[in-house]
Amino acid sequence: MTPVGQGPVAWKARGGRPQWSEEFLREAYASATSTQIAKRLDCTASTVLAALRFYGIPVRNCGPFRADPIANFWRFVDRSGGEAACWWWRGAPRSARNGHRYGRYTTRGKVYRAHVYAFTVMNGPVPTGLFVCHTCDQPRCVNPAHLRAETPSWNTRDAIAKGRRVSARGEQAVSAKLTSAQVREIWFAILRQGASFSELARAYGVSIGAIQNIRERRSYRDATAGLPPIPPLPPVHPRSRRATRSAA
Ligand SMILES: [Zn+2]
Repeated sequence: MTPVGQGPVAWKARGGRPQWSEEFLREAYASATSTQIAKRLDCTASTVLAALRFYGIPVRNCGPFRADPIANFWRFVDRSGGEAACWWWRGAPRSARNGHRYGRYTTRGKVYRAHVYAFTVMNGPVPTGLFVCHTCDQPRCVNPAHLRAETPSWNTRDAIAKGRRVSARGEQAVSAKLTSAQVREIWFAILRQGASFSELARAYGVSIGAIQNIRERRSYRDATAGLPPIPPLPPVHPRSRRATRSAA
């Protein structure tokens, strides 16, 4: 076993010279790939490639698809469903943070979302401020016919319209402070005109604005549906208010 710090990788970390001579590497690389040499030398292919680059030996692009990233991309795509169907990404998934929902395509040291790459191949770069969205709602689909560049708000609207994202309402919302029963209590309190908005706000631990929103049915609308309506406040004109005050 090679002692730690003296193995083939050590020179790379130190930034020194490879432990193999230039002649040896040139000769070996003439008749073998970097992977084959690496196996023989008991190191990794990237160590061999680094050594080749150190001596300025031109490195070959191995494999028939490396030279053409786009041809390589379509190698990972299942198009068996036909032109109109979803084309499934069979390559690597994207990070776990995204729940592996999107495909990931790595080429020439760059990582792309697979569907964004497919869009770019067909339509050119994504316009700034826009996002590549699926009209078919399948994150792993890379059929360019199912992809369009849209604004984030379109994506959200589309998601809600298709029921992918149901926005939480009323007491279901994360930020909700009141239960539906409390909202109904407040509603009837306003209706009886027994308590002012500020008193209600203090009693239920919410802002006066929150009480106003309930009254105007801007929030907790479902909780107050079907309850007797609160008559609208008479419009107060600034001048008329001053007039009544001066009259009093
Ligand atoms: Zn699709």
